[in-house]
Amino acid sequence: MPETPDLEIADPATGTHAGNAATVPALDTRFFGHPRGLSTLFFTEMWERFSFYGMRAILLLFMTAAVTEGGLGWSAAKAGPIYGLYASMVYLTALPGGWIADRLIGQRRSVLIGGILIALGHVSLTFHLLPAFFLGLFLIVAGTGLLKPNISTMVGGLYGPEDARRDAGFSVFYMGINLGAFVAPLVCGFLGQSVQFRGFLQSHGFNPLNSWHWGFGAAAVGMTLGLIQYVLGGRHLARTGLAPATPPETRARDLRNFGIGAAVIAVLAIVLWLLPVPVTTVMRYLLPLLPVAYFAYLFSQPWTPEERKHLWAIVAFFLFAALFWSAFEQAGSTLNLFAQRFTRTSIFGFQFPPSWLQAVNSAFVWMFAPVFAWLWIALGRRRLEPSSPAKFSYGLFFAGAGFLVVAFAALAAGPQGRVSPLWLVTVYLLHTFGELCLSPVGLSTMTKLAPGRVVSQMMGIWFLADSLGNFIGGQVASVFEKFPLPWIFGSVAGVCMVFTLVAVALIRPVKRLMGEVH
Ligand code: GLN
Repeated sequence: MPETPDLEIADPATGTHAGNAATVPALDTRFFGHPRGLSTLFFTEMWERFSFYGMRAILLLFMTAAVTEGGLGWSAAKAGPIYGLYASMVYLTALPGGWIADRLIGQRRSVLIGGILIALGHVSLTFHLLPAFFLGLFLIVAGTGLLKPNISTMVGGLYGPEDARRDAGFSVFYMGINLGAFVAPLVCGFLGQSVQFRGFLQSHGFNPLNSWHWGFGAAAVGMTLGLIQYVLGGRHLARTGLAPATPPETRARDLRNFGIGAAVIAVLAIVLWLLPVPVTTVMRYLLPLLPVAYFAYLFSQPWTPEERKHLWAIVAFFLFAALFWSAFEQAGSTLNLFAQRFTRTSIFGFQFPPSWLQAVNSAFVWMFAPVFAWLWIALGRRRLEPSSPAKFSYGLFFAGAGFLVVAFAALAAGPQGRVSPLWLVTVYLLHTFGELCLSPVGLSTMTKLAPGRVVSQMMGIWFLADSLGNFIGGQVASVFEKFPLPWIFGSVAGVCMVFTLVAVALIRPVKRLMGEVH
């Protein structure tokens, strides 16, 4: 294929396309009508999510599996908060990750370094040693913070400001995420948990109890393939995501701020480590304070009355998003444990690993994302498309409905029994409907509402909601063995339903706060 260097013209300072009057760029349509660079980012993110969701599918199961089963032998009370802290940190580091790219090294290099850290993290998890386990989690957290927000920004950078393909580009990218997330639990779950693979290891002279680490190893291989692809495909990215061309004085200030920030985080980590209470307990109080502090800072700035109203709307969206993710993200924790302990995992005599059920959500995203996109357009044509606050309330409703279903499943299973996997499939179907109501509209509404000078921080607030949600989800997992399951799942459903009502009641006020924005 001939090289067409004039196709993509990016502003090296911002990594976005500024356009250029001298060379009017022809539209690059080489990847299904989209810029060729989207293919590079699509496959990089596909492999990154492969590694993330593949590892996540077996992480909590590995921690809670008995030592005689090759696991760490921890109780849910111990493993749940650690899982929750890990999952929330993965999204929290998006804040410094975005800052480092914007101010210091650009998105392109952040993604590369992030990918390398992630791959090393998964390699570390292949060893059956506790320090290697924690080091692995730490590296994945740091790497994902550098990779995940910045690769999304780069997708935006492929399109000019007037390019109408931008939203469609993000939808294609979301499909890449879910392609990786679909295949990963099948591969890593098979290697980590299946009787078949354990038998294979045994017959080839390997320790079958180490099967978990082969699962983590597959995640490492996936991320490495993604990195190779990213480096080879880098030329298609033209100048997207290059380091900012900051004047030397600003650069010196940014570097100093980076040094101070890194030192503060390091000191904080050491203090947390040395405290006599577990880190997870301290974080239980610290983490919810973060958004409060962040919003307090945001509100203390001078804003016009219109901007102030928008900020209040953002607070409402943030809270509902955090609640939604706290239910949805239990896929990797409580719902995964329910699959392991209370679900029949065989169809037509074929025994499959419980972690395979982790693939269901992504399969449904593939099936239903086009349906939802069509639905909104069809409703929009009749002037019936729900507003974004209305879509958020649907999201919460579906999250609650899913937990109501699993509460009944737990009731049917009783303390010892097992139920059909179709129960969890139904739960994931409802949760996917919720995700498709809330997730795609969420970020775009937040960025549209953001007062001009803080647009880039909105991506951070979105990930902060995710982070908080994951943490709460992990807390729920900690009581998995303590209370009756129908009670736990029923409570989650109840909370979601109550907040659905609150969200419905707030549709009109939030719309008023949003003003002209939809
Ligand atoms: N499944 C999507 C992803 O991994 C969204 C998950 C989320 O935002 N919590 O990117």
